Amino acid sequence: MSDTKVDGEREPRDVLEHRALEEEREPRDVLEHRAIENVIIVGGACAGYAAALYTSRANLEPLVIEGFQWGGQLQNTTDVENYPGFPEGIMGPEMMVKFREQAERFGTRFVTDDAIRIELSDGGIQRVWVNDEEHLAKAVILAMGAEPKRLGVPGEVELGGHGVSTCGVCDGAFFKGENVMVIGGGDSAMEDSIFISKFAERLTIVHRRGEFRASKIMLERARRVDNIDFKTPFVVEEFVAGDDGKLASVRLKDAETGETEEMEIGGAFVAIGHTPRSELVIGEVDADENGYVLTRDGSTKTNLAGVFAAGDLVDHTYRQAATAAGTGVMSALDAEWYLRDTPPSPEAHWAGRAGVAQEGEPEDAAKVQA
Ligand code: NAP
Repeated sequence: MSDTKVDGEREPRDVLEHRALEEEREPRDVLEHRAIENVIIVGGACAGYAAALYTSRANLEPLVIEGFQWGGQLQNTTDVENYPGFPEGIMGPEMMVKFREQAERFGTRFVTDDAIRIELSDGGIQRVWVNDEEHLAKAVILAMGAEPKRLGVPGEVELGGHGVSTCGVCDGAFFKGENVMVIGGGDSAMEDSIFISKFAERLTIVHRRGEFRASKIMLERARRVDNIDFKTPFVVEEFVAGDDGKLASVRLKDAETGETEEMEIGGAFVAIGHTPRSELVIGEVDADENGYVLTRDGSTKTNLAGVFAAGDLVDHTYRQAATAAGTGVMSALDAEWYLRDTPPSPEAHWAGRAGVAQEGEPEDAAKVQA
């Protein structure tokens, strides 16, 4: 349609108004109509739900991409006796439901599916894809957790929570007076062994080599404990269940001779390391050589403005439900302060729109339309 007026004739008022609306709409057509969240939290377990609780109570209306199998490592845990506030203990999956419900109560929204791609920006718009759907946010909290490495032998998964564990600190006390085994030769295996030996009758550290990856000091500490034995070089071939469906014995193979033997055992701890679930952000955000996302200055800030990380994704030391929840809370506060204090970047086309805090204004953190 030409804008040229024929014979100086004025167009009727309603036509002009219509055109004005058309012109106003044009840039929006280009910009696609999509919501920009205040904050997206990737990860549905202790850290993610704790971050969701705090950001929802701050009226940030967080969107949690919680994963198809939300609940993290606690989903495979039976009794949790070391989370403060539950003197009688609580089952791991039940605790995750409670975490989730508490976040939901204050307006958290959930996408119960896996993020498949994450594109991070330094101070601009953060992008997270779930299947074909792209979610946009001004801030993102990465809380994808870590997975304990597994041996990949029969019985390991089936007897998880029934005698086979990946967390000595969590489950060691359940094996009071029993013979137990710790598999691994690193610092985690030594640390777990020293802790569990306080409860166990005898504890055997099984390692696939004669040499240990553990630091000298940790190895020496473990060697000095009276009820700890070392069995090397042996590999686990199978965790065997008894009639009661619980772990009864472990079939071991001598790595040199190939001979096998069975050892009766009440509990077995697989302590061969963890893998942070950072594959979606490797190359996007700073991480260490093992894939743990790096945070700065005792906070949850990463090297990218508006990108925060919490929980086991950043923690190769403590790895507890309570510490993950704690850093989840920190990430929520860091994200809240970031949104409050950061003027929109040029990329952030929410600048100047209603409901969005401008520099010097109090944050009301409303969700906006692009
Ligand atoms: P790690 O140092 O990677 O040690 C893993 C151990 O598991 C190694 O001995 C390895 O054997 C063994 N292993 C791996 N895959 C195996 C398999 N499929 N079958 C049998 N054995 C297998 O892991 P980590 O002990 O968890 O320690 C991770 C990091 O955290 C380290 O930097 C560690 O120093 C640190 N950390 C520190 C402390 C502390 O200072 N208090 C406590 C815990 C962890 P090979 O040696 O044969 O490969």
